[in-house]
Amino acid sequence: MDHTISFLDLKKQQKRLGKLLFDRIEAVTSHCQFILGPEVEELEIKLASYVGSKFCIGVSSGTDAIQIALMTEKVGPGDAVFLPAFTYTATAEVPLLLGATPVFVDIHPKTFQIDPTDLKHKIKAIRDEKKLNPKAIIGVDLFGQPAPWEALRQIAFTENLYLLDDCAQAFGAKIGNKRLGNEADATVTSFFPSKPLGCYGDGGAIFTNDPDKAEHYRSLRSHGEGKTRYQVLHTGINGRLDTFQAAILLAKLEFFDDELLRREQIACLYDENLKHFVKIPARVPHSSSAWAIYSILLKSQEERSNVQFHLKKKGIPTAIYYPLPLHKQPAYSHFHTGEPLPISESIADRILALPIHPELTDEQVMKIVQEVSHIKE
Ligand SMILES: *Cc1c(COP(=O)(O)O)cnc(C)c1O
Repeated sequence: MDHTISFLDLKKQQKRLGKLLFDRIEAVTSHCQFILGPEVEELEIKLASYVGSKFCIGVSSGTDAIQIALMTEKVGPGDAVFLPAFTYTATAEVPLLLGATPVFVDIHPKTFQIDPTDLKHKIKAIRDEKKLNPKAIIGVDLFGQPAPWEALRQIAFTENLYLLDDCAQAFGAKIGNKRLGNEADATVTSFFPSKPLGCYGDGGAIFTNDPDKAEHYRSLRSHGEGKTRYQVLHTGINGRLDTFQAAILLAKLEFFDDELLRREQIACLYDENLKHFVKIPARVPHSSSAWAIYSILLKSQEERSNVQFHLKKKGIPTAIYYPLPLHKQPAYSHFHTGEPLPISESIADRILALPIHPELTDEQVMKIVQEVSHIKE
């Protein structure tokens, strides 16, 4: 038996999915409808029902999902788009590609989610400056937990801003008993292989309850086409979800609830056994996480290096999400006013992600706990 601890184990997952997965793939090779084949629509219907939203539009990636949503709102030059500084680069990249300006917002020190108070300050500062037009907020459900949606909705409403949920890391997470997918004007997710629901390549989806927006998203993902194939209504992109990827996702969806449950069990096991000597991730109240990432917080950058080095020596892989907040990244720093975002900066220095995936055994989790506990000595 192989006892190697991996950060993600898609080979073992594939064995578990077995025939169901290969039958789905074979069906596509048989019918050969590789672009928008029947699996895409089947998946869209299942995913919409899974999150309880009216429409799901399968697209080529999470990044393209953000782009299609923002293009539909005509986000462009002169517009300010507010987003957390502590997120994956894609959240900021899309507003920039469309000519808009990202405005970086600090995060909560315990949940790592966007801080509504700082968001209000940043919106006010942009309004006072009168250079940019505040246009949209992108909330990110970081690491699998929900962003503070009630507060974000209130701000978006008061300030008359478009609200987008970047749910790339949190598909399947819930607030109360309701899955994420209906918290903002639109919700986007990603099926990148390492996300909670991952395909075998790139893939993503957009969720909305608005039939007109849904139609617009469908048009934009296929070059802006109209009711007929060669009628072009909008400037669009080539942004469709691949039929093979939809087929793989349909197979994986059958196991997804069990996987979410297993991730939650592992998180609880970590919480219980780590809480006495490191800062464990704070739970967002009244919610359940999709546990894309389980990150602990060390006291200093030095302590993090020591722990990471020790774990590596013991064959335990770790990762840092994210070593630099976006406003410090070379590509984006000139869009930032220079004022520090102290929480994002401090967290980036001290955060460390431990393996969390459905294939981990309790024994492996306890082995990781034991090795992390070395910092006590
Ligand atoms: C992964 C991710 C994306 C981008 O998704 P892709 O499918 O890789 O394009 C966007 N935002 C966040 C927060 C992500 O983690």
